[in-house]
Amino acid sequence: MADNIRLEIVTPEKRVISEDAQIVMAPGSEGEFGVLDGHTPFLTSLKVGMARFKDAAGNECGVFINGGFAEALGDKVTILAESAERRRDIDVNRAKAAMERAESRLSGNRSEIDEIRAKAALARAIHRINAVASR
Ligand code: ATP
Repeated sequence: MADNIRLEIVTPEKRVISEDAQIVMAPGSEGEFGVLDGHTPFLTSLKVGMARFKDAAGNECGVFINGGFAEALGDKVTILAESAERRRDIDVNRAKAAMERAESRLSGNRSEIDEIRAKAALARAIHRINAVASR
């Protein structure tokens, strides 16, 4: 069996994950990718979505990723995200409120900037709600 790979997920605010994983999957901007120990080094940008990993004990874990970058270096994957939280830490009521705010902004008069911001907020909220629903 392959060795574990070190997974670090950090945001400007906090270190969300720092642990060993058997496999790491993440939402690359060119599509979902998976990394095992010894993977060829690469750097990619990330979309909004879920990163998933199997921890050292074999538990499946999910982490919401609000875009960013991932770097794979042999025995380590580092994800730098705009914001991120473990699935179990997602407050679904907060995400529902964010979704409603974004939807009401999108249904009113809006500038182009507001529309881009509201659509991004809506996408974050929907991913968070879906992450909790798929638990
Ligand atoms: P909100 O409008 O509710 O703040 P947002 O999508 O604008 O949502 P972010 O900018 O992505 O929020 O994140 C700000 C901080 O709040 C981050 O630390 C993020 O992990 C946390 N966060 C945001 N939404 C949730 C949520 N529904 N549950 C738990 N943590 C959240």
